Amino acid sequence: MLRTHTNGELRINNVNQEVTLCGWVQKKRDLGAMTFVDLRDRYGITQLVFSESQSELTMNLGREFVIQATGKVAERQSKNTNIPTGDIEIIVTSLVVLNKSKTPPFTIEDNSDGGEELRMQYRYLDLRRNPLRKNLELRHRLSIEVRKYLDSLNFLEIETPYLIKSTPEGARDFVVPSRMNAGQFYALPQSPQTFKQLLMVSGYDRYYQIVRCFRDEDLRADRQPEFTQIDCEMAFVTQEDIIQTFESLMVHLFQTTKGIDFDSFPRMCYADAMLNYGCDKPDIRFGMTFNYITELVKGKGFAIFDDAESVIAINADNCASFTRKQLDELTDFVKRPQVGAKGLIYLRCNEDGTYKSSVDKFYSEEELKKWAKQCNAKAGDLIFVLSGDLAAAQKQMNDLRLHLGNQLGLRNPDIYAPLWVYDFPLLEWNEESGRYHAMHHPFTSPKTEDLHLLETEPGKVRANAYDLVLNGTEIGGGSIRIHDRAVQSRMFDLLGFTKEEAQAQFGFLLNAFEYGAPPHGGIALGFDRLCALFGGQETIRDFIAFPKNNSGRDVMIDAPATIDKKQLDELNIKVTL
Ligand code: ASP
Repeated sequence: MLRTHTNGELRINNVNQEVTLCGWVQKKRDLGAMTFVDLRDRYGITQLVFSESQSELTMNLGREFVIQATGKVAERQSKNTNIPTGDIEIIVTSLVVLNKSKTPPFTIEDNSDGGEELRMQYRYLDLRRNPLRKNLELRHRLSIEVRKYLDSLNFLEIETPYLIKSTPEGARDFVVPSRMNAGQFYALPQSPQTFKQLLMVSGYDRYYQIVRCFRDEDLRADRQPEFTQIDCEMAFVTQEDIIQTFESLMVHLFQTTKGIDFDSFPRMCYADAMLNYGCDKPDIRFGMTFNYITELVKGKGFAIFDDAESVIAINADNCASFTRKQLDELTDFVKRPQVGAKGLIYLRCNEDGTYKSSVDKFYSEEELKKWAKQCNAKAGDLIFVLSGDLAAAQKQMNDLRLHLGNQLGLRNPDIYAPLWVYDFPLLEWNEESGRYHAMHHPFTSPKTEDLHLLETEPGKVRANAYDLVLNGTEIGGGSIRIHDRAVQSRMFDLLGFTKEEAQAQFGFLLNAFEYGAPPHGGIALGFDRLCALFGGQETIRDFIAFPKNNSGRDVMIDAPATIDKKQLDELNIKVTL
């Protein structure tokens, strides 16, 4: 090897040893009599010392040059307690420049001066920075722990194909033209869903895969067109078995990578999540749950409340002292088109026991007191009220609650609040297509006790489906599947497939169900997001070595790109742009 040690390794007990180190020049300080060079690699930084007589060695050294230095380890005069190698330095005797470097377009430091786009373009340089290195190390550690844990439970990691068939359900597919089958296309998998179910039919009763999935969706912030899932499936299990198995996996991950112990995760049914938080992935790190004051506020001449289906209030502890400006800002927030409220009503529960609201004209102090009581508000609290159609008011109040949570510092990324949400609806109405869509996917089984509603009130049927939520983010979801051909066919009917379409799209699965399909179910956890949350950050991009930007481009390799005429001809593709 070209080195005897790494740059993070040497300590005071190595003093007087002859060593050879390799790495990148982080920094050079020429003090005349001496020149110091900070040498960096993945493992750390070690200080090199050159005497004045060696100035011809260091003269031309620039930032990010790759060098090999040999010398003796010495105790430092002035120690640097900020780095583990800070007690020692290397008195260099020989130096080889292994490669030069142009001046990098941004500084390779923890807080770089480079803008997002520039750093993406020079991702290989950005990856030299500590924050990114730590993220990738965490990702590695998590994947190792996932494999160790699932292996210990007899799960087999089995690869499934990337070139599969396009299906109309779910998001848009990325497609790949087939040269050998003119006019035909493969699709890249949005998930290995049907394959893992087939593996259950094959008898591999515990499957997992840390697997890339592809979805051609309009990129909202923090979505990647290709992303990684911890994908799992089990046979001969109930919903409870799956929840317990993957809860214990998460407990293991928290324990081994964060040193945090959990006994068990709380659970909440979908209906309660919607009722109390207005969303199916509540952030339960803080309270401010919903109070429905609809009945209290009606009939007092305030038309907005009188006309509303629902009036929802939340209580912000100790916020009665919010200024006019703060209240105006919050009103502007809820009026943004993304939130969509018409206005925001507040009620101050003053320290002196009086009440002051923005609708004092319509409500007496006595009535306001009743609001406060229903919201469990105490003196010094501030109540916010939104109204409208139930679903809209819930959504708006959820937005406001999360916004306030951020503002009040109640969403500390170092605090972890996992939560299972269960009993999701099987179907959701899609306005655009004028029909029901599967809320999870078409293979999810309805709850037996709701089966009688399937034809009459399909929207009310609950599914054996569950999500794992962490700090208000969905990190995974799964279901107990249909394993009966007749039920699966009925489901396809309900989703608007003709018999022929169902057979053409999913015939392989329907057929497989006729050869002894065991009861089965599974889950998939979003691995990139899990890494980001464990890293205490919100964006997944910096937990992926080579991510795409917000327009789905890889700006480093400049993809996607056109291909030449010959390639297009071979693929029988005519581009008409
Ligand atoms: N395949 C599903 C998904 O990607 C997860 C599952 O049901 O296991 O969301």
